[in-house]
Amino acid sequence: MGPPGAGKGTQAKKLTARFGWRHLSSGDILRAEKAAGTALGKNLAEYMDTGKLVPDDIVVDVMAAALGANNASGLLLDGFPRTVEQAAALDAQLAKAGKALDAVGVMGADEAMIVRRISGRRSCPQCGKVYHVETLRPRKEGVCDDCGAKLVQRDDDREEVVRRRLEAYRRQTEPVIAYYRARPGLKVIDVDGGGTPDAVLKTLAAELAALGVGSR
Ligand SMILES: [Zn+2]
Repeated sequence: MGPPGAGKGTQAKKLTARFGWRHLSSGDILRAEKAAGTALGKNLAEYMDTGKLVPDDIVVDVMAAALGANNASGLLLDGFPRTVEQAAALDAQLAKAGKALDAVGVMGADEAMIVRRISGRRSCPQCGKVYHVETLRPRKEGVCDDCGAKLVQRDDDREEVVRRRLEAYRRQTEPVIAYYRARPGLKVIDVDGGGTPDAVLKTLAAELAALGVGSR
């Protein structure tokens, strides 16, 4: 868990590669649904393009379907649950399957850094590769290194949208972290999202290994 731009997606990819888990990103799943242009996708676009949180019942339905299809040895949830209502719905789903959360990772990050990180992102609409105007520039400005397509700024990476997402995070998602911290026996791992990706990974992987989660 952590605000948008804290680096959750990057860590999720690294951790799932290391431990052989499946990465379930609500952002990826919802964006795929939106891109498919279904009735649900069109409904989603209205929320996602303006930085509003997608309503709980829609997210829970989409994520429950993805959870049900899972048969990996472990599952890493990225961007879900995002509200206390979603967290309660997840608990109910897991209980039904006889499973439980092993750990919750919380990535803290400074808001000014987040705005710089996200609003500088540029994406390739063709292959999905992500660049940054300051830290990860393509060889030729505005053009994808791999496929030559013209880079774009995703609607939900625009600065005013980022600020709305941060506000929504504070209001709706920070209470989820408090909800998990209050649970006896559930390990909450705090890391500084301002560190380098490798430093953050090292901390997360060591804490998970100490719990015995990584070796299962
Ligand atoms: Zn490309």
